[in-house]
Amino acid sequence: MTPGRPVPPPLGKPLLPIDETDVVPSPTLAAAYGTPTLAAAYGATSADSGLVPLTVARRAPKEDDVEIEIDFCGLCHSDVHATRGEWGAQSYPLVPGHEIVGRVRKVGSAVDDFAPGDLVGVGCLVDSCRECGSCLEGLEQYCERGNVGTYGVKDGRNGDAVTQGGYSTSVVVDRRFVLRVPEGLDPAAVAPLLCAGITTYSPLRYFDVEEGDVVGVVGLGGLGHMAVKIAKAMGAHVVVFTTSDAKIEAATELGADQVILSKDPEAMEGANRTIDVIIDTVAAPHDLNPYFRTLRLDGALFQLGLPSTDMPPVSPGALIRRRLAYAGSLIGGIAETQEMLDFCAEHGVVSDIEMVTARQLNAAYDRMVAGDVKYRFVLDTKTLQTPSEKADV
Ligand SMILES: [Zn+2]
Ligand SMILES: [Zn+2]
Repeated sequence: MTPGRPVPPPLGKPLLPIDETDVVPSPTLAAAYGTPTLAAAYGATSADSGLVPLTVARRAPKEDDVEIEIDFCGLCHSDVHATRGEWGAQSYPLVPGHEIVGRVRKVGSAVDDFAPGDLVGVGCLVDSCRECGSCLEGLEQYCERGNVGTYGVKDGRNGDAVTQGGYSTSVVVDRRFVLRVPEGLDPAAVAPLLCAGITTYSPLRYFDVEEGDVVGVVGLGGLGHMAVKIAKAMGAHVVVFTTSDAKIEAATELGADQVILSKDPEAMEGANRTIDVIIDTVAAPHDLNPYFRTLRLDGALFQLGLPSTDMPPVSPGALIRRRLAYAGSLIGGIAETQEMLDFCAEHGVVSDIEMVTARQLNAAYDRMVAGDVKYRFVLDTKTLQTPSEKADV
């Protein structure tokens, strides 16, 4: 553990700024690069439509593009919020999905680092400005001009078309945002690493967790179960906090060294000053002050869940008396995501998953909202229908 400001992860592949000539205005896209490919997909046509079969037009690959045949796509809670319009106005039709694993089908003329047949992944980002301070540091998720998310975001370099995600048979992404998936891991179980995995890896890495550190994990869902596995692989002693007796055994099975029922004040008191860093994955409003009391001097609590309503206030005294940091963290940059995939391959870490077919997507969403999943659903894209002759989006 390195208290204070740890060193950011090294950049794997520098993201060179692009010049204006790379920006292709919309009406000329097809003329310049050929006809789009139609892909079968599932998505929402309105906030209350549920998920229905759709056909998406994927642009013909430009010089720097990689066309990917998608095999698997993880289901993230963000997908539910976005398709149901719970995070503000949304452009429909909307195909969600940002935990994409598949094989390269075609590459653009300037792509020399990927070839057809390569196993690759795409996470939450498909572009960013590539020239602000954050982007140049490999922190594209914090792009000062706003990152381009994998779905539901206007893509400035592609005629402002709204990005469409991975519940689909194919996708076209700039090579700078394509990740190499190590062979040897179950590719379906790798998919959730691209959001849930990197979201928990990044703060653990930022805090420089190493052998012997004590890591607390609050909440044992999609994010929490990845936090346990990754922290264990980093050599940490892992303490899971849960509100549910039913999850004690599950946490232990995942490798937790200790499980604390957070509703038991005595158990919480017993954990006083025992933990170095807490990864809090709970998205519902909850009181953080009892968790601060479990942290040692110079400890930190990273909040990863985004509640839709206010949280109970944090007591400044709790932070001041132990020089604690209360921090947030958003997914991870591209170089760090690649580092995470390589780390997971080295340590045999993947997500625990349940495969779903396209027709089971709506039921899977309901189960996710009810917290009834162990721990991530993954869509098998072979179950998508063939695309229709005309694109819906
Ligand atoms: Zn996600
Ligand atoms: Zn930027």
